[in-house]
Amino acid sequence: MKNSVFYFVVGSQFLYGEETLVEIDKHSKIMVDGFNADKNIPCTVKWFPCVKTSEEIYDIMNRANNDDNCAGVITWMHTFSPSKMWVKGLMALRKPYLHLNTQFNREIPWNDIDMDFMNLNQSAHGDREHGYIAARLRLNRKVIVGYWQDEDFTAQMGVWMRAAVGAAESRKLRVLRISDNMRNVAVTEGDKVEALIKLGWSVDHYGVGDIISEVEKVTEEEIDAQMAEYEKEYIMDTENIEAVRYQAKEEVALKKFLDRGNFKAFHTNFEDLQGLRQLPGLASQDLMKKGYGFGAEGDWKVAAMTRIMKVMAQGIDKGTAFMEDYTLHLEKGGEMILGAHMLEVCPSIACEKPKIQVHPLGIGDREDPARLVFKAKKGSAIVVSLIDMGDRFRMIVNDIECQTQENDMPKLPVAGVLWKPLPDFKTSAAAWIYAGGAHHSVLSYDLTAEHMRDFAEIMGIEFVYINKDTKIPEFRRELEYNDVIWRNK
Ligand code: MN
Repeated sequence: MKNSVFYFVVGSQFLYGEETLVEIDKHSKIMVDGFNADKNIPCTVKWFPCVKTSEEIYDIMNRANNDDNCAGVITWMHTFSPSKMWVKGLMALRKPYLHLNTQFNREIPWNDIDMDFMNLNQSAHGDREHGYIAARLRLNRKVIVGYWQDEDFTAQMGVWMRAAVGAAESRKLRVLRISDNMRNVAVTEGDKVEALIKLGWSVDHYGVGDIISEVEKVTEEEIDAQMAEYEKEYIMDTENIEAVRYQAKEEVALKKFLDRGNFKAFHTNFEDLQGLRQLPGLASQDLMKKGYGFGAEGDWKVAAMTRIMKVMAQGIDKGTAFMEDYTLHLEKGGEMILGAHMLEVCPSIACEKPKIQVHPLGIGDREDPARLVFKAKKGSAIVVSLIDMGDRFRMIVNDIECQTQENDMPKLPVAGVLWKPLPDFKTSAAAWIYAGGAHHSVLSYDLTAEHMRDFAEIMGIEFVYINKDTKIPEFRRELEYNDVIWRNK
């Protein structure tokens, strides 16, 4: 996170004289030091001398574009900075863009305020001039308003920065497809060319045979080392060590294949395992824990989103996992969703030390796979789905409350999480279904809808949000409006 740098570009002009410009740079240095010391700011803010001309602005925006470590640009108008000189630079900018509306001085010094003070505290009108040109240029941006030292202000900055870091990851992401989508399934499909154009994802297919030849090359020593890791991280709750060793073998092979191709996310497909003896269960789970994105049944979109959200969540570490709406609990007034998957839920969300168990799998027609079994933690979270509407990508986010799981499920050996969606089960499920949200999602305790809204804004994709205030008639109307808006974009 700290390697991701944000350029702090402060606007002014020559009108106020040299002394004022020196003072502006002093102020902005203090602010940058403040941001970098703030626990809410996960990344690095980089100071620059204030900009006064179209050439300086164009130059710094191009530097931002060409600096691989630069994850975004933050602007703030300390003084009035005429916006015609921002047009060329802002039109060239290809990095995420945040505009702060704040002021170096918190309060008006009633007894001392004079014209010199005014010349040094002009954000009130300077930031509005700046806002106009961004609005006129229809730039994707975030505006944060308030006093720059306030907790809520820097917290919002931190959220946006995480989204920008996610965008940077998205734009270089390689996704490994092992086989194709599950036959006949619609929602896991999508336009991979559009995903490359819009989201930056290279989604490449390899045959299962390529993975099998990698599995065959894994040595006994490599399996031993992987088994030692499993023993350390998890409880070995099976006699069938041979089955666990086979997952270790698959994990070593998959990791090599991923790293060699610089893939950060992958999917499997249980319908197409060929000579693989087990569907990768424990292997996929442990790779997710290491930060790789994963999707089942050929779902490359959820695999990519799992990776991106894990990158956005770095350092928070409450847990982010591939998820599926598994089955419903329709007790009147106590409705809940059990989220799980047949094997592949990330152990980062566990509330207990996961157990390695080996059980038969009804589908896939292979040997019994080893998997991690655990209950997930209690707490607030979100579920996120990305779908292809044919003419655009739509992101759907729902706030959820994960519950303590009172009941054991001795005959369902999966990793599971039990949640109540907001505002209530009926509204949430209806809204999700009207919006076309998938049965696969990414569940995160680390991120909020605000992170995802900022990410969607940066990437230029549709965002809909199901939350405590959602009402079905208004939500449906929003979907209808969005259809018109996005067809004209
Ligand atoms: Mn599934």
